[in-house]
Amino acid sequence: MSIDAVPARSVDYNRVFAQAIDRLHEEGRYRVFIDILRNKGQFPNARCFAGHNGPKPITVWCSNDYLAMGQHPAVIAAMEEALHDVGAGSGGTRNIGGNTHYHIDLETELADLHDKEAALLFTSGYVSNEATLSTIARILPGCIIFSDELNHASMIAGIRHSGCEKRVFRHNDLAHLEELLAAEDPSVPKLIAFESVYSMDGDVAPIHAICDLADKYNALTYLDEVHAVGMYGLRGGGISERDDAASRLTIIEGTLGKAFGVMGGYIAADRTVIDVIRSYAPGFIFTTSLSPVLVAGALASVRHLKASTAEREGQQAAASTLKTLFADAGLPVMDTTTHIVPLMVGDPVKAKRISDILLREYGVYVQPINYPTVPRGTERLRFTPGPAHDTAMMQELTAALVEIWGRLELRKAA
Ligand SMILES: *Cc1c(COP(=O)(O)O)cnc(C)c1O
Repeated sequence: MSIDAVPARSVDYNRVFAQAIDRLHEEGRYRVFIDILRNKGQFPNARCFAGHNGPKPITVWCSNDYLAMGQHPAVIAAMEEALHDVGAGSGGTRNIGGNTHYHIDLETELADLHDKEAALLFTSGYVSNEATLSTIARILPGCIIFSDELNHASMIAGIRHSGCEKRVFRHNDLAHLEELLAAEDPSVPKLIAFESVYSMDGDVAPIHAICDLADKYNALTYLDEVHAVGMYGLRGGGISERDDAASRLTIIEGTLGKAFGVMGGYIAADRTVIDVIRSYAPGFIFTTSLSPVLVAGALASVRHLKASTAEREGQQAAASTLKTLFADAGLPVMDTTTHIVPLMVGDPVKAKRISDILLREYGVYVQPINYPTVPRGTERLRFTPGPAHDTAMMQELTAALVEIWGRLELRKAA
């Protein structure tokens, strides 16, 4: 068709796409991905390919490989061994040829980690939330999902795709949750979906109190432990292990891509629940299973962190040191009880500006966190110090931030 044959009022697709991108630029939240390579054995040191003069050394402060397990010798050895043993991919879905012995071993290990009868692997934590929540609620006719307002996008997607009713309760607000539960018909199926460690604010859910409400109103519970597995509890079973609450939860969900340092997601629950999700969730059924190489690495990581507490202790010590350094320097560090150290900026343009200066002038990489990851007006820098960040690095980082805070005339802590 020639150009002049296009009807006058046809859609200008390119213009619509360009306008969508322009809106992000106008709000200062257009996302720029930083091009890096991590240096195995030297994390948090990495190389950045942002400039034109070849890679530049940087220190990574925003990795979710919280415990540096992504470079742990046991993890790498297990992955190399699996690669040489069975090759690159699984070759199929779990149902058709892709159910490897590695997958079964890891599910057994994860069920044990959370003191549950069974576990189920997914290709990511995102997929595990989306697939499980959308499926379980569809199996329960008339189900209402009660969802914490700060729940992760993957849980929100699962709840939406379930097609069932949802009630959003104010973050960690037990009174509001109870009010919403009490307002519904007692005979209707209910599911409370929440997280243990909220990754942007670094606060923790009152798991026992939420389970008390679940008991009182006969609701199921779904807990996302993505930012806690590997890091809390004696064996890395998360906050539910630390608080001795695992047995009270219907489903515990986690990732293998953050503290476990590899990739993949999972749920752990009673055998029947796992069987239902395994049998009905499209996001589990119709996709190639994880590469056995990844599964072998995750298995080594989970096993290592079950036995070793050095990484967890190192991370807690680093987080506590960094919070103290920030607070003593008058930087607006948010009060958290976890390993997450957020500095509140409150403006997307400024957050990006600080991040740009840190990378360009100081070789410090911390990504600005903007809407929709956090609410507008609460834009921040989110630091995740771990066992490999030493005190000298933290002092340098603090000094850099103090200089930038002065240069940009930013608000200090009250
Ligand atoms: C990162 C994240 C996920 C998704 O996990 P992936 O394995 O990265 O897909 C799920 N829930 C929360 C709270 C997260 O922060």
